[in-house]
Amino acid sequence: MIDVKNLTIEKAGEMLKKGELTSVELVSACLENIKEKNQDLNIFLEVFDTSTPLSASALDQAKIADERIKNGQGTKLTGIPIAIKDNILMTGKKTSSGSKMLENYVATYDAFVIQKLKKAGAVIIGRVNMDEFAMGSSTENSAYGPVKNPLDPSRVPGGSSGGSAASVVAGMALGALGSDTGGSIRQPASFCGLVGMKPTYDTVSRSGLTAMSSSLDQIGPFAKTSEDAKIIFDCIAGLDEMDSTSLDLAKLKIKPNKKVIGVPRDFLQGVDAEILQNFENTLEKLKKAGYAIKDVSMPHLKYSLPVYYIIMPAEVSTNLSRLDGVRYGLRKDGESVFDVLKKSRSAGFGPETRRRIILGTYVLSHGYFDAYYNKAWKVRRAIMQEHEDIFKEVDYILTPTTPTTAFKFGEKKDPVQMYLSDIFTVSANLAGLPAISIPSGTSSLGLPIGMQFTGPLFSDESLFAIEKKLKGE
Ligand code: GLN
Repeated sequence: MIDVKNLTIEKAGEMLKKGELTSVELVSACLENIKEKNQDLNIFLEVFDTSTPLSASALDQAKIADERIKNGQGTKLTGIPIAIKDNILMTGKKTSSGSKMLENYVATYDAFVIQKLKKAGAVIIGRVNMDEFAMGSSTENSAYGPVKNPLDPSRVPGGSSGGSAASVVAGMALGALGSDTGGSIRQPASFCGLVGMKPTYDTVSRSGLTAMSSSLDQIGPFAKTSEDAKIIFDCIAGLDEMDSTSLDLAKLKIKPNKKVIGVPRDFLQGVDAEILQNFENTLEKLKKAGYAIKDVSMPHLKYSLPVYYIIMPAEVSTNLSRLDGVRYGLRKDGESVFDVLKKSRSAGFGPETRRRIILGTYVLSHGYFDAYYNKAWKVRRAIMQEHEDIFKEVDYILTPTTPTTAFKFGEKKDPVQMYLSDIFTVSANLAGLPAISIPSGTSSLGLPIGMQFTGPLFSDESLFAIEKKLKGE
């Protein structure tokens, strides 16, 4: 039996090429793990086990991949099983965004990232669970029930891409795609002991990603190692004419080489002692790798979370307004148009989604627009500027990815407590910067700890090289 849990994309790729393994065998092993554990862990909402006229089953994709490899036309991803977050469109497949509202929505086209994966010959194995419309930090907000952390099923896998992270840890896929609006790739990666990366805004097309907050959303990879995450990133990044904001990273990429790491110490409050200790150890490793450590003052960082919780809900309320039971989404009949809207939206959206729609509508409403939304944008610009200035002095900014390790189900019932999980991750989205969460050992309870490196715009590729430096390789 193939040990998928400990197999990297790199290693599997080599084995496939040498003929020591076939994609059919690899995918079958993942399907076996899904069969065994999915009912309990609730990771996959749908496994692609049957072919339809519009889409090939995982095993049929694997057969085609094996042929391609045999003919010497494989890429680094050919035959590699990848799980897809339920907010990324795939032709002929449901894409529910973890919501009842879109329970029966079937996509009519492939997201840009899916086109790229298909072209590379990756095997798309199924769609995985998530917080409703990507709102959450624990995957407890899914309309299809919470995902359990495979490392400790009494705990959350993080969110909102909890299903993506869990699928890789549980050996159900070798890599996964998630989306990150305020930390939803990096935070679950940290809770599950994986590498998770949020690219520079616009370097990965958002075409075919169900929008949560369009000025913050980015698709990115989950994998066991930085090398694996880079393989996925290299495949999905690129210019796309369907996303007018998309950029060609190849032309813009930069490689920071000052050999200085910035540490915003004042900002590291409320972090678990064990994580802080791990952070200090990471700084020591960086020193050994030849980096100087510099304390940086970033007085605007503390406003990241409040600014995020104004701009994000504002965009959420706008993006989700089309889901009204008339144009899109679940429909409940009523006596008047207003009644249809009210009944459909009440039945289709869960409590967290409704909370954010209300919050967003409020901050955008006449009379409050200037006081909240406009002001938040001014502070967002100051946060961007502050990062730009700091990156004149340092290569990367280091913080823990999260203030705690994976928490127990129901532990963060107060929404504000939940929001605080993202204290270190939201600033990268507000400033459009690339950031990576790298596994950094475990706590005394054996729970993974993640360290986050944020880089300047377009330094994406260099972020994947840090893990090796930390290991002294
Ligand atoms: N946890 C954050 C939120 O609930 C981030 C979500 C995300 O990145 N999609 O908004």
